[in-house]
Amino acid sequence: MKILIVEDEPSLRELIQRSLEKERYVVESAADFKSGLQKIEDYDYDCILLDIMLPDGDGLSLLERLKALRKRENVIIISARDSLEDKVAGLELGADDYLPKPFHMAELNARIRSVLRRNHRDGEMDIRLGNIRIVPDSFKVYVDGRELELNRKEYDILHYFVTRPERVVNKSTLAESVWGDHIDQIDNFDFIYAQVKNLRRKLKEAGATATLKAVYGFGYKMIVES
Ligand code: CA
Repeated sequence: MKILIVEDEPSLRELIQRSLEKERYVVESAADFKSGLQKIEDYDYDCILLDIMLPDGDGLSLLERLKALRKRENVIIISARDSLEDKVAGLELGADDYLPKPFHMAELNARIRSVLRRNHRDGEMDIRLGNIRIVPDSFKVYVDGRELELNRKEYDILHYFVTRPERVVNKSTLAESVWGDHIDQIDNFDFIYAQVKNLRRKLKEAGATATLKAVYGFGYKMIVES
């Protein structure tokens, strides 16, 4: 899962980043409105943490931009202005939650988990596809109730596809989500091929009814075999 932090206060931004990296998120950050706008136009995120008061603009305008781009990112507003008008404006523009500063990292983590659960999994704690069950809170995967050992990237790739069944995903989108935005500088995606190959083998050996299908020259999609 990839998170974007839009926050101009360097110490807070770094604190959030470190904290979320410990929770195994891929974390990207933007220190001002302009770079935040660039990020949301160029990349996709699972969740955006959005400060309202930025030196060169209003975070609420970024929400408007997201809406105009028809993006479905989860957004949590983090604001020092604990004003009702901001909260209402943010929620009306499509933000999923609002957390006034200062806050504890534990609370931010809980809000992120809750938003992702609500919007990606209909409120379910586990994610299921075929006979595969993922427990995101513990990063564990089960096939027919038996635990499947995956390395971190294999887990992240599986999680990405299980939450997007039957959707064709190109290699660069997958790489950006699992490795980070910087990966778009790379023109050889063999490292993805290697991880996907191992993941497919492990799923097959475990008897999983869902598998990753290669879409020639483009990427992959997860299909459930009947
Ligand atoms: Ca600020």
